[in-house]
Amino acid sequence: MTARTDATEATRTLTTDVLIVGGGPAGALLGCLLARRGIDVVVVEKQDTLDREFRGETIAAPSVVTLERLGFGPALRGHGYLETSGVAMRMEGHDVFEVDYGRFEVGVLPIDIPQPALIGIFHEAADALPNHTYLSGATFTSLVEKGGQVHGAVVRHRDRSRTLVDARLVVGADGRFSKVRKAAGLPARVTPMERDFLWIRLPRPADWGDRADLVVRDDRHLVILPTFPDLLRIGHNLPKRALGELRAEGLPRFRDSVAEIDPRLRPLLEEHLTSWDDTGFLEIFTTEVDRWARDGLVLIGDASHTCTPILGQGVNLAIQDAVCLVPVVARSLMDNQGALPAVDFDAFVAARKRHKTFVTRYQRLQEAALAQRTPWRVALRRARFRLLDALPLKYRVFGKVINAPHPIDPEDLRLAREATTASPVDPSTVA
Ligand SMILES: Cc1cc2nc3c(=O)[nH]c(=O)nc-3n(C[C@H](O)[C@H](O)[C@H](O)COP(=O)(O)OP(=O)(O)OC[C@H]3O[C@@H](n4cnc5c(N)ncnc54)[C@H](O)[C@@H]3O)c2cc1C
Repeated sequence: MTARTDATEATRTLTTDVLIVGGGPAGALLGCLLARRGIDVVVVEKQDTLDREFRGETIAAPSVVTLERLGFGPALRGHGYLETSGVAMRMEGHDVFEVDYGRFEVGVLPIDIPQPALIGIFHEAADALPNHTYLSGATFTSLVEKGGQVHGAVVRHRDRSRTLVDARLVVGADGRFSKVRKAAGLPARVTPMERDFLWIRLPRPADWGDRADLVVRDDRHLVILPTFPDLLRIGHNLPKRALGELRAEGLPRFRDSVAEIDPRLRPLLEEHLTSWDDTGFLEIFTTEVDRWARDGLVLIGDASHTCTPILGQGVNLAIQDAVCLVPVVARSLMDNQGALPAVDFDAFVAARKRHKTFVTRYQRLQEAALAQRTPWRVALRRARFRLLDALPLKYRVFGKVINAPHPIDPEDLRLAREATTASPVDPSTVA
């Protein structure tokens, strides 16, 4: 990377191979993996710190294997995480469905680790590399375009100074409200779901167990996730635009509403849910984007396709996007001069879009089932889940959503082995 300051415009200029906008799970991992390959990378992140509350924290089993193979295992274990043994569904007080994660062939369980810790692990690995630059408190404002190609971007710092980053590729990894996507003129189809979500964190009783629960009562449901280190993360569905009304009804009414769905939570709620500050709101929508790339630009993570929280796939998909993109960028940088052509990303986009579209379709079906409210539809729903529970097919369907394999480029593996201590996962056992 080269840097120069233009005194007349008080704008600093950086020149790099790849500019990544957004240091979330997608951008932070991509930055680290590209830098390991010797590619010059600048990651810009608008937040000053890694702190982020109420974010996706679940990493599906294949992503755990991928991170192990990429050498992040010791750091993950050094921080600590929680393994999730399975997921069970309870409807109107009846157990109807259960998936034991130990029965999948992946060989490891999904884990729960706070998002700041995960991103911190990627940053720490990248910090050691001279060709990786991380600018925090740096907000993307506009793209630099010449002749229809993207050649970089302008970012604004906290002190209002600007940096023009000249790059052969700009990666939009700036999340569900991506400004890069908008600036690039890539149209997005945003489909609001019928309901939003309110997250709560409560202390986890010692005998709670390590299974995720979906507890449903008519058209209301709770997602209850054991969370590292000793918490429960609970998502409660809300009708669209109902947050104001809910707050106006008061916290005691909300506590009652949650406890009506799962009475086990009542004592915890009464003791620990004492302020709306203990909750986090998540607007639920999906975003689908037909074109993820232009010459000199590509989107990944939530910026390219936003899923709903059903089955906690957001971080998992972000990790997959980053891992799959690395060899594509490395090859394209070698094959071309100047801005990387959009066509080089066609195969990557097609494969990732196929998988994410499948996940979104599954999530929509699930959401439609959870929104049922008439008594006979609710009874029919229970019967359907009971039937599915009895069929081995449930492992096939679930496996396709959460256990998609990640092809890892051999060069990434070689570099990961050089960069880190040996991983305890034997790569030969992993598909
Ligand atoms: C409140 C909340 C709760 C969630 N809960 C769940 C859940 O339970 N399960 C689940 O699977 N998923 C959940 N998600 C989604 C999950 O967190 C995301 O799918 C995942 O983090 C996607 O990673 P990403 O790197 O693509 O985007 P993000 O994690 O959104 O990261 C994008 C980064 O870009 C930065 N950025 C944005 N704009 C700019 C800009 N202009 N300039 C510079 N930087 C910028 C942001 O600060 C952020 O750090 C939740 C998301 C939110 C917001």
